[in-house]
Amino acid sequence: MKKSFSKLTQSVHTGSWGDVQFKGTVTPIFPSSAYDYEDVPETLYPRYFNTPNQKAVVEKICALENGEDGLIMSSGMAAILTSLMAMLRKGDHAIFQNELYGGTYHAIVNELPRYGMDYTMVEGSDPKNFEQAIRPETKVIYIETPSNPTLKIIDIKAISAIAKKHGIITIIDNTFASPVNQNPIDFGIDIVAHSGTKYIGGHSDICCGVVVSSKELIQSIWSSAIHFGGSLDAHTCWLVERSLKTIVLRVRQQNLNALTIAQYLKTDGRISRVYYPGLPDHPDHAIAKARMTGGFGGMMSFEVKGNADLFMNRLKLIKRAISLGGVESTVTSPVKTSHSKMTAEERLIVGVTDNLVRFSVGIEETQDLIDDIKQALE
Ligand code: PLP
Repeated sequence: MKKSFSKLTQSVHTGSWGDVQFKGTVTPIFPSSAYDYEDVPETLYPRYFNTPNQKAVVEKICALENGEDGLIMSSGMAAILTSLMAMLRKGDHAIFQNELYGGTYHAIVNELPRYGMDYTMVEGSDPKNFEQAIRPETKVIYIETPSNPTLKIIDIKAISAIAKKHGIITIIDNTFASPVNQNPIDFGIDIVAHSGTKYIGGHSDICCGVVVSSKELIQSIWSSAIHFGGSLDAHTCWLVERSLKTIVLRVRQQNLNALTIAQYLKTDGRISRVYYPGLPDHPDHAIAKARMTGGFGGMMSFEVKGNADLFMNRLKLIKRAISLGGVESTVTSPVKTSHSKMTAEERLIVGVTDNLVRFSVGIEETQDLIDDIKQALE
């Protein structure tokens, strides 16, 4: 597939191939977990991440992320933790931004020290905070932007420049942006991870993860991945490949819906605060505009002046759900879900108030979503 084709065309065609036997249009499913090992260029096995459906989905995601190679895994956490563990050794140090997906935060705090790995968490909005935390044994800088749930933006280009100066590997969780809106490899980031459960799957029915990087770094991650074993089966890979064919269309509509709804929410007196990087008064709007080249994404948060639970209960079209990135619009209370283990004081530091609503905007008609919010606020 020509690299010059647009993302829309690549999302449909790259990695996908027709059925050779019956000349069908779509990639067949190859469910074998047992393959011949004689007279073959490579022994295939699902946990070696090299079966046909795994390769098809990886080729497509690499085209969308501008990466050389990748791995499709059984969850976002498998992709994140396998990448981290592959890059770190006993005695190494890693730097993380302090606003992270809760699962990642708990994995770092609970797992890294058990393997003799040290870490520092820094406030992410100023790249200098990362540089100041660097030690001789620092091997990894890890970021997540836009962040959950207050949509803070980190300057990925500045972070990658600092890391390169010190010979440190950078890893980003690009889940919230999706490969349609932000391509960190273009700005010098080494490893891009996604919870594919979100925009890549896109229909709230698949759990998977991906990691995309250079051939060399993927080889290193692969060497650990075959031990940790977080591979994905052929049937689910085939569904992910199918989902990716519409990711550009889906995310474009989500970008449009989110921006229009954020603009509306700013004008409604019953809303006290809106967090969306596409709004000109978002503190990181300029940097978001420069780095999120495809759009500002489908995730936003807002504070209602009344009771957030009451508001969410009254929504008719928009569903309450803990995940995000699906075609259907969903809302979550971060206080009750992602940030429930924090103390009230810790939550306030990261801007998570009791009346904060996190909104994953779907692909529905924009006005229908606005009407649903209006009737729930009344
Ligand atoms: N990263 C982010 C930003 C997430 O929101 C999530 C899940 O909610 C993950 C990573 C973990 O992904 P998974 O649940 O697919 O393991």
